[in-house]
Amino acid sequence: MDKNSLYNASADQIREIAKKFKLPKDKVDNFLKHERIVELNIPFTNALGKTEKIPGYRIQHNSKLGPYKGGIRFHQNVTRDEVMALSLWMSLKCAVVNIPFGGGKGGVTIDPKSLSEEELETLSRAYSRAIYDIIGPDIDVPAPDVNTNAKIINWMTDEYIKIAKKRKEYTSKSIGTFTGKPVKKGGLEAREEATGFGGAVILDHLAKQLKLKPEKTTIAVQGFGNVGYFFAHHAAARGFLVTALSDSKGGITKKGTTATVSLDIEKVMECKNEQGYLAGCYCVGGVCDISEGRVITNEELLALPVDVLVPSALENVINKDNMKNIKAKIIIEMANGPVTPEAYDYLTKKGVIIVPDILANAGGVTGSWIEWKQNVETKNYTKKQGLDLLDKKMETAFSEIWSTMKKNKSTMREAALLVALARLMD
Ligand code: NAD
Repeated sequence: MDKNSLYNASADQIREIAKKFKLPKDKVDNFLKHERIVELNIPFTNALGKTEKIPGYRIQHNSKLGPYKGGIRFHQNVTRDEVMALSLWMSLKCAVVNIPFGGGKGGVTIDPKSLSEEELETLSRAYSRAIYDIIGPDIDVPAPDVNTNAKIINWMTDEYIKIAKKRKEYTSKSIGTFTGKPVKKGGLEAREEATGFGGAVILDHLAKQLKLKPEKTTIAVQGFGNVGYFFAHHAAARGFLVTALSDSKGGITKKGTTATVSLDIEKVMECKNEQGYLAGCYCVGGVCDISEGRVITNEELLALPVDVLVPSALENVINKDNMKNIKAKIIIEMANGPVTPEAYDYLTKKGVIIVPDILANAGGVTGSWIEWKQNVETKNYTKKQGLDLLDKKMETAFSEIWSTMKKNKSTMREAALLVALARLMD
């Protein structure tokens, strides 16, 4: 068995939980198997006319709850093993929030930065053609992931629809084959902020359970991209004190003792856009004044004496090297896998509550489900309608996981997996 296999490590984690909670081993083993693994060599001609075959994948893990769902990543390190692991986690994530989707994932082993815009379009269209027969609104619904975006998805959707029309397979639902489309091309207005918004909903319900008052709860958010920015925005809008923020170049918090007011998230974003990085943007109540603030490193941010720590950038940022420095009593995993298994055990034993990524950032896939739903029902959800529906789904998922956790005296991660496995196992 390959010790470096991400899929084997993921499957082992599920088996361990299944064993601890006495789930039937044969059913768990059966669940772990993928339903379809498609490996591609995508014919691609570059701008100089050279033709080569680029490795690609579409892996469909489980369709018990509905069409497979999961992103397509373009990265030079994409492997079959990685896509297998990610598709398994998509099955679990969709089941956690109880949306009618299964788990899938796709990838192309290419560094997209090595391609011109024209070449990127050629490859995106070629990938869409290569998977045409195994995707569709009722079969498998891909979306953007690492290094793919609404523009790429739009090329793929356009290519898919061209083939569907040529083969006389086009229906009004065909547009629902991909999600993450531009808003003008069938995309959902609320999708951009769905992941961060969903995390803020979870924060709110967790605070209620723990009887924490938002106006007294301090939060440090690592990462100020799509997820970190919208999480911070919606947490501050709900009255929480977002007292520290960072991006890849460093972070900002108040000088001296712990802050008692929230950073002004919009002003920080304005300032970051003007100067190109966040460190130095100490903005409170509409005013940016660095003399009141303190520039910190990302490691310092993780060790701040805040109530809630929200890693929203990369995986494995909380690990054996820094786990003993963590002072927060709550960690919300908005990034995928930001806490390593070793740090997870250490912090859990210390009584830290860790909201697992498969719940915390599931607002993203729930937003994708709402986009798909509006496409197949030929409706249009306004931003408010989209966020209201998302709010309800996240609240229900949180309550189910919280009560499962209490009932089983488990961690939130174990409870989330128990809820998902109960829905997924035959
Ligand atoms: P993004 O590219 O928009 O933003 C990433 C942010 O992290 C940027 O602000 C960047 O400066 C910062 N960053 C990079 N390296 C850093 C470092 N070493 N220390 C601190 N900050 C650093 O990406 P995103 O869409 O916000 O995704 C963030 C994470 O959330 C990823 O793990 C992603 O897989 C996960 N996620 C995203 C979505 C989604 O809908 N976007 C859904 C589920 C999970």
